[in-house]
Amino acid sequence: MTRQILVIDDEKPIRTILRKLFQKQGYKVLEANNGNMGIQIFKKNRVDLVIVDLIMPEKDGIETILELKCLDPDIKIIAISGGGIIQPDLYLKLAKKFGAIYSFQKPIKVDKMLILVNDLFISPPAS
Ligand SMILES: [Mg+2]
Repeated sequence: MTRQILVIDDEKPIRTILRKLFQKQGYKVLEANNGNMGIQIFKKNRVDLVIVDLIMPEKDGIETILELKCLDPDIKIIAISGGGIIQPDLYLKLAKKFGAIYSFQKPIKVDKMLILVNDLFISPPAS
């Protein structure tokens, strides 16, 4: 069965880069430009992995992660962040604390992300 990845990011160029990256590998990619839309899409689709930006208008990434984890405690989540008012690495640490398996700082190293995602579907990562 085709693995489905939901990408939630308010920056369209980032969504496009990730969509193309994963589609080329045979994944199906769903996109949302904010946390609220992401949650709606998540509820209506079978999603195997969520990649979520931390700094977004309307509903930020941390809030989105918490809500996703309530809906499905086992959902795999990768957080990405370009930073914000507080230090980006602090945000990324928070994301991990709340259930993200990995976190990436922008600009995203796509090769590294692809390897991690492929690995996720082969075996669960050691935390
Ligand atoms: Mg953003």
